[in-house]
Amino acid sequence: MAAVVLFNASQARAQSGVVLENIEASYRYGEQITFIAQVNASIPIQQASIVIIDEAQGLTHLQPLEISPDGRAEYRFDLRQNRLRPFSLVKWNYQFALMDGTAFQSTTYFIRYEDNRFAWQRLEAGTLRVNWYNGDANFGQAALNAAQSGLGSIGTLMPLDLSQPVDIFIYANSDDLRGTLVLGGEDWLAGHADPAMGVGMVVIPPGAEQGIFMEQRIPHELMHVMLYRRVGAGYENLPAWLREGTATLAEIYPNADYGLVLADAGANDRLIPLKELCDSFPPEAGQAFLAYAESQSFTNYLHGTYGSAGLLSLAGYYADGVDCERGTERAFGVSLSSLELNWRESVLGQRAIGSALRNLSPYLILLCLVLFIPLVGGLSMLRRRGRGHDPETFVR
Ligand SMILES: [Zn+2]
Repeated sequence: MAAVVLFNASQARAQSGVVLENIEASYRYGEQITFIAQVNASIPIQQASIVIIDEAQGLTHLQPLEISPDGRAEYRFDLRQNRLRPFSLVKWNYQFALMDGTAFQSTTYFIRYEDNRFAWQRLEAGTLRVNWYNGDANFGQAALNAAQSGLGSIGTLMPLDLSQPVDIFIYANSDDLRGTLVLGGEDWLAGHADPAMGVGMVVIPPGAEQGIFMEQRIPHELMHVMLYRRVGAGYENLPAWLREGTATLAEIYPNADYGLVLADAGANDRLIPLKELCDSFPPEAGQAFLAYAESQSFTNYLHGTYGSAGLLSLAGYYADGVDCERGTERAFGVSLSSLELNWRESVLGQRAIGSALRNLSPYLILLCLVLFIPLVGGLSMLRRRGRGHDPETFVR
């Protein structure tokens, strides 16, 4: 269960009085990393520290380091208290203050914090790699094919950037994905991407439905990575509806239930307003599913109206920090709430009557004058007559 990385001692030779040897880091996934080094100092050491850098989360941990009389230094980093993102790089170096007043900092070393609870198999095509542990070679080949189809589909929306590796890790069940400790409370999720690291994690149980899940989930996570590479670190500023909406556009085999859930919510006036889907999605499974369905439909509507260039321009404004409502104004000259209304009308057929009324209002005034007033007059006559004969007639 432990990965060990040994570093060549020559890397660690310094011009000062400290030489580091047998540098290694090993870990138990989700439990701890143990950093070990042999410290040989020609000048006595006053103080020693280890600096652990978690770049994925922008965290640096500076900890005092104890060195035993024989020069061995061991530091245990608790991964229960300091949760790391799966497959992220962990960097570290050693710092020493010597008795003669000089200071020494070692080279920075790194290890990739892989989910080594499983024996991963890998298949790759260029920088695109699929990794799985449950399933045969055909399973892996099918996954790689789905990934390539996904890239083909993404390529119709935006230029691909495969200059850095992209890794898809396929978990056989949701318990195993939950075991990465990356999901927080959203344990209904069947996939997760860490776009900055070029990593997507998906649940695909081997079996009859594996092909459908592959074509749905792998392209989805790849889209998160490609869009990140397109817009850069400002990706985190993109509204959740746009991040997930574009990802669902990439799905070769989209979830067939999105349409049903959307129509049902539309008919029952239970749609979640888009402005509530800017920061994040609801944690509860049913509402989250509706959030995905809405995001997919709305982004598809934007794509149909403004094309891929429009979507990318919108993503660019959001990445630059323009807020959720104003992003569409900058890109398309229309506020988010107006676009939302147009989308509901054209895709869901909502408020179609309201729209027709707006367009027809000059004529309606005429209609009122010509038809409505005599009609009211006629109705009141009927009412008077009705009351005379059967009081129940107009109550039903
Ligand atoms: Zn997603």
